[in-house]
Amino acid sequence: MTRHRRKGFTLIELLVVISIIALLMAILLPSLNRVRKQAKFVACKANLKSYGLMAFMYADDNDGRMPNAWTSFYNQRTYRNEPHRYCRWHNPDWDLVHNPKYAGPFWPYLKGKDIHICPSFPRIANMFGTLHPEHVDGVPIKPNYNYSMNSYLSDKKIASIKRHAEVFFFGEENLWITSPYNSYAFNDTAMCNYQQWDSFGTFHLARRADMEDGVVNAVFLDGQVKTVNRIDSWRYCAPDGQSLSPVKD
Ligand SMILES: [Zn+2]
Ligand SMILES: [Zn+2]
Repeated sequence: MTRHRRKGFTLIELLVVISIIALLMAILLPSLNRVRKQAKFVACKANLKSYGLMAFMYADDNDGRMPNAWTSFYNQRTYRNEPHRYCRWHNPDWDLVHNPKYAGPFWPYLKGKDIHICPSFPRIANMFGTLHPEHVDGVPIKPNYNYSMNSYLSDKKIASIKRHAEVFFFGEENLWITSPYNSYAFNDTAMCNYQQWDSFGTFHLARRADMEDGVVNAVFLDGQVKTVNRIDSWRYCAPDGQSLSPVKD
């Protein structure tokens, strides 16, 4: 008499199996998410490591001198009648793979697109891309790059700078303004710390959904990639913080 009943699962058995699977998913998904975030974080560091190597190669070929931060990735700081100049980072017209005529002096050393975009950044750009200063509505949000050069280094010789381990070369910014840390945000190729205009971002490994309490990566003049905090921005801009005002609190 039990022969027929043993042929398949009973409804109860099926429900038990489904709830066990659901329980396992609930346990595993957050840690999978964490692993994915960590993987992106590590890939971002690898990008910046390459930026560090590029700096030394570029310097070697150019009498030890850095380019200007505003004309490093693109060759012109601004073109006449360019209404979207602060939207270059996400404007498909400024994708250097397809429009190499705009390429700046660093481009020959790091051709290709992926290396210029942190794997965590496209999601940030989707969420906050229109918040950056002087955004022009209607320009598509398709990131071309998201690393900014320390503007202090513009046109300087690497050898003239002391404490290479404490001066950052390229780093990541947020797309939005958080007083008192920054009064501008990511909207060009320079990270300028004059009067707290820009600061390091917070979008990596943020614990809260608002992305305000995370960290970002930066590569330093000694070639090392470090994880940096928003409050480190001024400390790592120039040797001994010279010619810079400290962060207000
Ligand atoms: Zn990153
Ligand atoms: Zn824009």
